[in-house]
Amino acid sequence: MLKEIKKYGDPVLRKNAEKVEVVTDEIRTILLDMAETMYEAPGVGLAAPQIGINLRLVVIDTDGVLRKIINPAILEYSLETESCEEGCLSVPGIYEKVRRAKKIKVKYLNEKGEEVIEEVEDLLARAFQHEIDHLDGLLFVDKLSPIGKKLASQKLMRLKKETLKNMKKGDLKWK
Ligand SMILES: [Zn+2]
Repeated sequence: MLKEIKKYGDPVLRKNAEKVEVVTDEIRTILLDMAETMYEAPGVGLAAPQIGINLRLVVIDTDGVLRKIINPAILEYSLETESCEEGCLSVPGIYEKVRRAKKIKVKYLNEKGEEVIEEVEDLLARAFQHEIDHLDGLLFVDKLSPIGKKLASQKLMRLKKETLKNMKKGDLKWK
């Protein structure tokens, strides 16, 4: 099922997401909804807090392979870093360069609950780092250079205002 993507300014994006204790059908359904929502957007990655679910779940597809990722953890970062332009479905209209490790070693559970350890690089490594940041309440705009932050600040302020306004409207609807 398609879900609404939460936007910059929504407090759910700033929470520390909780670890998944058991991989159940409910978790698999959330991952399926996340994949559908990511493809529809379209995007190459989505974290559960972006659809308002405070769990450590991520979907990524940068290379035609859909990864459903539970409780990811980065085990190693390469010393080599790379600065590339990034965007985020929760921060529409802003694309800025972010410096990240070029390669990482990552551990997670797949949707069968099996442990997976992978070494990934380039765009896939970037997607993992970006999405895992979401689980810790971090957004790519937190990681911009001082000049990047300055460039984005007005747009971010506008976005936050709009999000809060829409959230208020949503509240009213339910009253
Ligand atoms: Zn994002």
